[in-house]
Amino acid sequence: MNTSKYKQILLAKEHELSVQLEGAGDVAHGQTDVEVRDTSDEAVTDQEKDMQFHEADTDWTVLQQVRAALERIKDGTYGKCVVDGGPIEEKRLEAMPWAPYCIKHQELLEKAAPPQTPTL
Ligand SMILES: [Zn+2]
Repeated sequence: MNTSKYKQILLAKEHELSVQLEGAGDVAHGQTDVEVRDTSDEAVTDQEKDMQFHEADTDWTVLQQVRAALERIKDGTYGKCVVDGGPIEEKRLEAMPWAPYCIKHQELLEKAAPPQTPTL
């Protein structure tokens, strides 16, 4: 598989997310900070704050997946499902280059557990 195309996308995505997360607060230091954020800043509308909040949360998860994918490119295991080592569908990688699972395991995991912190 030609991973250089995906590597470019992943590196760009990693950069983009890092910048976003730096602006979104202290998320980079760990997951626990999210719960104890100060809510006294009334200048921002609740809705807007809510959105930023969720986005930051999602971004952090994606960033971890992006970094894991970059590691797999280094290891030469990129494009293989982390569960069974089977190939991840090329279409899936086109849409989501950091996908760690084949469609079968993605679906199994989504059924088995709420999509929170994936084990990476
Ligand atoms: Zn799989």
